[in-house]
Amino acid sequence: MNPFLELGIREEVVNAISELGFEKPSEIQEKAIPVLLTGNDDFVGLAQTGTGKTAAFGLPLLEQLDFSQKQPQALILCPTRELCLQISKDLEKFAKYIDNVHVVAVYGGANISDQLRQIRRGVQIVVATPGRMLDIIGRNAIDFSQVKYVVLDEADEMLNMGFKEDINDILSETPDDKKTWLFSATMPKEVRRIAQNYMTDPVEMTVGTKNTGNANIDHQYYLIRAKDKYAAFKRIVDSNPEIFGIVFCRTKIETQEIAEALIKDGYNADALHGDLSQQQRDKVMKRYRDRSLQLLIATDVAARGIDVNNITHVINFSLPDEIENYTHRSGRTARAGKTGISISLINIKEQSKIRQLEKVIGKTFERKQVPQGPEVVEKQLLTIINKVQNVEVNEDQINQFLPAIMEGFESLSKEDIVKRFASLEFNRFLEYYNNAPDLNIDGRDTRDGRDRDRGERGPRTGSKGYTRLFMNLGAVDEFSRGDMLGFICNNAKISGKSIGKIDMKGVFTFFEVQDEEVNKVFEGFKAVDFNGRQVRIEVSGDSQSDRGGRSRGGDRRSGGYGGGERRERGGYGGGDRRSGGYGGGERRDRGGNNGGFRDFSGKRRESKGKY
Ligand code: AMP
Repeated sequence: MNPFLELGIREEVVNAISELGFEKPSEIQEKAIPVLLTGNDDFVGLAQTGTGKTAAFGLPLLEQLDFSQKQPQALILCPTRELCLQISKDLEKFAKYIDNVHVVAVYGGANISDQLRQIRRGVQIVVATPGRMLDIIGRNAIDFSQVKYVVLDEADEMLNMGFKEDINDILSETPDDKKTWLFSATMPKEVRRIAQNYMTDPVEMTVGTKNTGNANIDHQYYLIRAKDKYAAFKRIVDSNPEIFGIVFCRTKIETQEIAEALIKDGYNADALHGDLSQQQRDKVMKRYRDRSLQLLIATDVAARGIDVNNITHVINFSLPDEIENYTHRSGRTARAGKTGISISLINIKEQSKIRQLEKVIGKTFERKQVPQGPEVVEKQLLTIINKVQNVEVNEDQINQFLPAIMEGFESLSKEDIVKRFASLEFNRFLEYYNNAPDLNIDGRDTRDGRDRDRGERGPRTGSKGYTRLFMNLGAVDEFSRGDMLGFICNNAKISGKSIGKIDMKGVFTFFEVQDEEVNKVFEGFKAVDFNGRQVRIEVSGDSQSDRGGRSRGGDRRSGGYGGGERRERGGYGGGDRRSGGYGGGERRDRGGNNGGFRDFSGKRRESKGKY
């Protein structure tokens, strides 16, 4: 007998979920469904995303609602539009063979009239994000008097996103005798308080141990200097040619800049963050789901509720501020019983955070070495060989050209042909990784968290009489140092003699300016645009002359780079609060080589006019 039937799920639903590939209940389903099917209890379930919790509450709901009535009987609140759509689509799939089931997804950023129309036509299940739900309640457009079940999904996320008041207001619109089912990946005090305030003697259950991440996730970290972060990240990606990953950053601007740098370097990457319009976000997500994007660079908030299967790697380009967010991030991989890898790129000072994560998650994080150039090249080569071996040959089509092909290769031995094919792909690659430096910090054990690496310690200061400034353009924008000098002098209308050291990185540059000329630089760059990007100048937070930090243009909210990040919120106990920024791309010694080894089109990027 089908185990879902045994749990008490009706045949129509079992047929529908069998088509979705559900053969046996997941742990949370096995534990929660019997309790929720009684309909008698409030419920608290601690479960990560990806554990099958949508069906854990969705299947019992389908058993208990009266679909001959057309009034809302279940309300599901969740933090994001993506999750809202996902849940409503899942429920519709589960209910495929039940008649008259009407589910509405109510979320912001979409036309409210359509949602109101659906509600007017009659629905039994409302899946909503809190903001839009309140809006609709405020219009008196919905009647919750018949609601029997309220589900709070990803409750911790909803609270993180500031929906506490909204949830209170919405719950007060629902009948007192309803049952409340709360799901959360973590159980911070605030969630506990909601459970206390709104539930009576809830049945509690945990899948795995509290705060424990998915057992199928391998947690790894790389210890590198902050300035080598981007280069190390690229090596990790290059040594995993089949990667399909999400890269987490802490700020919108960081996601944007890393995505831009990656795109310039020829990767299939794009950014997902809150400053994008809904349309832009949908577009990015569609490309990611379709796998035309290999790397999605996202902030924590933007990535909430993303339910994409088969993500191979989660990369913490910057560790999250809140320890809970690490569990959320890593939970994006290893879904539905698959395995996955969660990678953190850290500097020496962040080692204590890893130790803390290990304690909370109850798993050891494996330290990995950033691959050396030749290892990366070998990995890529093997992938190509594999591809060549597995490529489907269309005999009919190719046959007609075969004589010409054979003739063209007549003078070459098999070995020569192999070498040449490989070189087609690899000349750029070999050149890029030729003499690539070792990016690992010495193998010393720094488990005590003490900073023994003088090179990473303390910020670099500007020379006396000079102020060190940050600019969001760098080597990836195809500036040489001379170009950069000209660019600064022309815009600021100052002489080259006023400029001190110029320290060009991958996606940004630090440069020194004589103190008395600093204002001219800010004035000159007030409204300068480079290839559609606003040029941003900031005082580097470690400057001798001005530790306060100033910024013109661009987005300030995220704080600066290079040690200038100012954060009010406490992070992990004892950890260094500064992100350290990401310090530039792999050094590009051969001027103009953009590291474009992935840009196999053979197109030279056009040199852009600079000033
Ligand atoms: P969720 O945690 O509800 O987002 O589910 C994560 C993924 O697991 C989704 O793709 C579900 O379709 C899938 N899933 C849920 N329950 C099962 C099950 N019992 N067997 C196989 N796949 C499942």
